[in-house]
Amino acid sequence: MPARKKATSKQGASAELPALQGRILQGEITLSDHVHEAVDSLRELDREYAMMTAISEELARSQAKALDAEKRKLGKDILRARPLLGLCVSFKDAICVRGVQSAAGSKALKGYTPVFDATVVSRLREAGCIVLGKTAQDEFGFGSFSVNVGKDFRIPRNPLDRERCCGGSSGGAAALAAAALFPHVAIAESTGGSIAAPAAFCGVHGLCPTYGLVSRNGLIDYANSLDKIGPIARSLDDVSRVLDVIAGFDAADATSLQRTMAPEAMPKSIALVKQEGVAEEVASAMWDAVKRMESSGVSYKEVSLPYTAKFALAAYYIIATSEASTNLARYCGLRYGFQPPVEGSAEEHFTVTRGEAFGAEAKRRILLGTYARMAGYRSAYYERALAVRSRIIAEYQGVLKRFGALVSPAMPLFPPRFDELSQLTPLQHYAMDHLLVGPNLAGLPHLSIPLQARLPAGLLLIGNHLQEKTLIRLGRMA
Ligand code: GLN
Repeated sequence: MPARKKATSKQGASAELPALQGRILQGEITLSDHVHEAVDSLRELDREYAMMTAISEELARSQAKALDAEKRKLGKDILRARPLLGLCVSFKDAICVRGVQSAAGSKALKGYTPVFDATVVSRLREAGCIVLGKTAQDEFGFGSFSVNVGKDFRIPRNPLDRERCCGGSSGGAAALAAAALFPHVAIAESTGGSIAAPAAFCGVHGLCPTYGLVSRNGLIDYANSLDKIGPIARSLDDVSRVLDVIAGFDAADATSLQRTMAPEAMPKSIALVKQEGVAEEVASAMWDAVKRMESSGVSYKEVSLPYTAKFALAAYYIIATSEASTNLARYCGLRYGFQPPVEGSAEEHFTVTRGEAFGAEAKRRILLGTYARMAGYRSAYYERALAVRSRIIAEYQGVLKRFGALVSPAMPLFPPRFDELSQLTPLQHYAMDHLLVGPNLAGLPHLSIPLQARLPAGLLLIGNHLQEKTLIRLGRMA
């Protein structure tokens, strides 16, 4: 594996946020200089790894200018108003940024520039973050490896080995988190594992919060009952400080939680979920991490989740595709993005638009999801999957009554090479999510921590609802 570039800028400055803020406050560097350097470096990385769908240079520069003016006025007090001053952030392409193309990686939305910022975007801007742009993803989030990108989009490459995938669907986000030479946090989204999977494959930290903790307002939906927005970052400190800013009730999201995160606790014991089909090297790296946690005073016990192991994948793909197929109905060539010239009847226009706009995986999911919720089949598939989901939640709750967290690998293998992935069927692709769909169906927070192994892999920590801080604490021991 080629060595990862050192996390320092050209001037040798650290990629840690407090160090950068120190230099800004001392007057050693302005935000404008910092952004200039970051954008240059981002362009270089993007040429090599194709992790961006848009670079918002103009926006970043104007933000930096405004923050420089504020710094001149407030001096060191600026940190009180802008705790994340100077932190560069990127957003998965499915998250709306005002004035910047937000296409969810799909040709259907090419040319769509929102007139508003998603709540996560405005909260981070308010905290002093600089918006660098949008990151590559599987079209609408449909995938685990970021190879199902929309037509005319580039497939991102893993910064640790260009011949390997980044994981998905937030592949560009994790790739940039791994490769950025400046303080940076990627804001990603998970429906069934799209934060933990790419974080594991790119050797960084990814936190998928409790469903409803972070506002989905301004997210281009994949499956509304499953979508969560969360951070991917090189350090747990960055994960934690960004979470503090983006978490919290938002009246603009009807599913936003009124409750707040639980205070950090120290779990005495964790449950190690017995899993089949995990590559030997990944399993042994996981055991090393479990032993490290044990030596910090956390005991462990092996448990099994038989119901989840048997049914979670099937329930997930029925629910996710059902919701996705209704969400995609709005892309018909009339309202947003891609609009070919209107010819023939309305029906013909929709057919031409949708045939041209969607990639093969999006079409497969529309077919699957429409079938599963069709009159006559609804109770056999969709409604049954919802009942299964309730039982899966109960199975997790049973274990979480006795243990502070559940532990397993995030992905069962090292990041596959592109030539390996192209040999697999869609069903084999879906099956790779088997460790991640459970907590996503149950809306439970989960954190992927890099494991020490020959290639990148992740340790998955799953906690009870709103226990994000406890997971971060555990993560520091792993
Ligand atoms: N791999 C899963 C899917 O394809 C999860 C994707 C996601 O979380 N966006 O649906």
